[in-house]
Amino acid sequence: MLYRCRKCEQVEAFGCLPAVSCGMYLMVLLGISVGSFSVALQVVAHAARRVAHAARRVAHSATPPHLPWWVMPVGFVIGIPLVVLGAYLWGRFLELMEYLFVALHRCPNCKARRWSWGFTSGFGL
Ligand SMILES: [Zn+2]
Repeated sequence: MLYRCRKCEQVEAFGCLPAVSCGMYLMVLLGISVGSFSVALQVVAHAARRVAHAARRVAHSATPPHLPWWVMPVGFVIGIPLVVLGAYLWGRFLELMEYLFVALHRCPNCKARRWSWGFTSGFGL
């Protein structure tokens, strides 16, 4: 990303995040979001299975609980905004990590360590 020195206004490109607004980077963030939600759902499903198994052992119920039909449509309606929110949060997290490393560098022009928040310039492929 691009960072502007707050003392001398010089713009420098640091880090590994793209310096232009990039749809491919957005796809990467969406992929990371889907992957992290998949892992989280697997963990929750595993925990729910363990709880159901423990309850079955106590209650001696032979049939596992079935999900009602509306779980999948409601899951999509809730899941899509969650994936978009997750991509936004992952993007902010990566920007913060890059900014923390950029903040260690001195400006090559005035030697100050006062950088703006990262920004992009224009659109790229
Ligand atoms: Zn400077």
